[in-house]
Amino acid sequence: MHAAGAEHVFDSFECAIHRMAPRCEHWGCTVIGHGVQGDGRFFCCPHCAKAKGVTGVADHA
Ligand SMILES: [Zn+2]
Repeated sequence: MHAAGAEHVFDSFECAIHRMAPRCEHWGCTVIGHGVQGDGRFFCCPHCAKAKGVTGVADHA
């Protein structure tokens, strides 16, 4: 973090993460790191998946 250029690249990288990160279908929040996937849909937590009627979700936490 000793160059302005590096900081700019890091900003872009962070934006890329937000762009590519799946969104929880229940809350619409960005799912980064861990989340649950079921029925081809992403959720931030098993609770949201169940709220949407998705059962047997794979918990990546
Ligand atoms: Zn959620």
